[in-house]
Amino acid sequence: MATIAEHLEKVRARINQAAQNAQRNPSDIRLLAVSKTKPASDIEAAYESQQRAFGENYVQEGADKVAQLSALNDIEWHFIGPLQSNKTRIVAESFDWVQSIDRLKIARRLNEQRPPESEPLQVLIQVNIDDESSKSGVKAEDVLQFANDMREFKSLNLRGLMAIPKANPSEQEQERTLSSLHKLFEELKQHFPQVDTLSVGMSSDLEAAILHGSTMVRVGTDIFGARNS
Ligand SMILES: *Cc1c(COP(=O)(O)O)cnc(C)c1O
Repeated sequence: MATIAEHLEKVRARINQAAQNAQRNPSDIRLLAVSKTKPASDIEAAYESQQRAFGENYVQEGADKVAQLSALNDIEWHFIGPLQSNKTRIVAESFDWVQSIDRLKIARRLNEQRPPESEPLQVLIQVNIDDESSKSGVKAEDVLQFANDMREFKSLNLRGLMAIPKANPSEQEQERTLSSLHKLFEELKQHFPQVDTLSVGMSSDLEAAILHGSTMVRVGTDIFGARNS
């Protein structure tokens, strides 16, 4: 069985190749290792291979790993899962980034609960880019207003957008989705100079995402193997 180190090397090579094909600088694309359901020892193995940014989907599981691995103090922890308002405090206290902001109520609570001695929380607005009823996220047409409404939250720093495109799209659907997401990102950047992050692309579609302006791919399966749960 290939090791996490070997998997990481392969994923990095894919990112470099995709960047080259898109005539982009590979250093403009960050890799987020999605470690949900995986043990802390897997994160340590990836850390040994110079991986520093990790994504978690479940509040308690994620906070436990943050605590367990606190000695690795240059890990950047991203919360990327659905977030209920009664769980915002743990996230505000444990994580560096939240990629799944989709309601003002959640943003307001994170802003209030971010410890004053911590850096601002780095946040992305999750966009429901394919307007799927099963998915959370702000509608594309509401993103600019939503971003404006967030300006008052001084403990949050808006860095950009996150999206989970619909699974198994046709090539045309994928092209349409990723293009409209890229356009929305460029529009957001015009109004918010600090915005620099478009989080899209996973194990199966990172090449297409990089071709369409992704600056952060979130990869779980192709680094840590299939999840049982
Ligand atoms: C699980 C997950 C990923 C990683 O997906 P893989 O297909 O395992 O690479 C990325 N983003 C989000 C939001 C996830 O929940």
